[in-house]
Amino acid sequence: MKVIKINKKDWENGINQSKKEYQLFGPVKEKDNYIFKKLQLDEYPDMEHKDTLVSPKSILFPQTEKILQTNLDESIDDHHIMKQVKKDYSKRAVISIKPYDAKAIQILNLNFDTDEYKDPYWCEAYKATTFIGLAVNNPSVFDFSSSTNTGPFAEQGLDVLLIDCSKEYLAKVLTDKGQAFLDVAGFNQETDNKKAIEIINNMKKKAENAISSQISTQNLKDKNTLDLYEAPFWDDIAFSCINCGTCSFVCPTCWCFDIQDETKGNLSYRIRNWDTCMSPLFTLHASGHNPRGEKTMRVRQRFMHKLKYFLDKYDNGIMCVGCGRCVKLCPVNIDIRKVCNLMNSHEPDTDN
Ligand code: SF4
Ligand code: SF4
Repeated sequence: MKVIKINKKDWENGINQSKKEYQLFGPVKEKDNYIFKKLQLDEYPDMEHKDTLVSPKSILFPQTEKILQTNLDESIDDHHIMKQVKKDYSKRAVISIKPYDAKAIQILNLNFDTDEYKDPYWCEAYKATTFIGLAVNNPSVFDFSSSTNTGPFAEQGLDVLLIDCSKEYLAKVLTDKGQAFLDVAGFNQETDNKKAIEIINNMKKKAENAISSQISTQNLKDKNTLDLYEAPFWDDIAFSCINCGTCSFVCPTCWCFDIQDETKGNLSYRIRNWDTCMSPLFTLHASGHNPRGEKTMRVRQRFMHKLKYFLDKYDNGIMCVGCGRCVKLCPVNIDIRKVCNLMNSHEPDTDN
């Protein structure tokens, strides 16, 4: 594996160079929060950023997205015929994505790019994107990524991993796509690989040791699904939930959406919007019946999906990358780490 050295004084120049071939997305501060957005010519990714409010999944799976359109004007030949909305799938790069958010994109791939179904909007956007990660030297107190199959220096889903070494970045080149981006940016100063890897491994160990928050997941796979479904703790967990949906909307691995048609004048659009299983409307049938009409059912669904159904279906870890966003932002302090530990240690009451 090749490691490139990027002197920080050359960073902005490289970013400018890369903008000639790539649309760049990166974290910027807006009001009190960091968010990922498309960078304008005079904008640069904030490499000192703390956690972004929502993950960069919205670059591939926007919160609201026009997918089909039609014209209702009957004087036009193809009126009322739904057509795919034209989109810009030219090359793009996401700069400074955290390793756990890159891993989350791989989890979303399991839903949007399967043998049976390929979501065209997701697949095109994914193909066009290069992921330039930034290792997390100082994990936040909410970060528990080292117990969710990722971690502060994890490489899964990345094309390049940047490591901030004070005056310079070391860039681990992980794929051809990553190499192509570095070539365009003009970052090509090779370094003593052995020494660089040693530095990176030491920093990795330090960052992993700084993560104080852990969850236990080792028993989840063997737990009986019905036992967990009927566990007595769901009412307690759900008691304070106000069904605001924040936990779903900030989660990098949540993939649920709703489809709406909207018409203005003769133009009609089919739009897909993020949705949340925490909302009673999510499962409301046209008949008026709602299979998850009560709050406890919805809260149980969220955690059972992330920590049990997903694990059973894919046998590849849980549907959570340990970013801690939902822990930090839930207005009533419902904490997936506690729920996970409850589920992991649950034993059914054999007296009944
Ligand atoms: S963020 Fe908290 S209160 Fe809001 S829906 Fe999620 S668990 Fe419930
Ligand atoms: S469930 Fe919470 S901690 Fe896990 S990935 Fe989603 S937002 Fe992050």
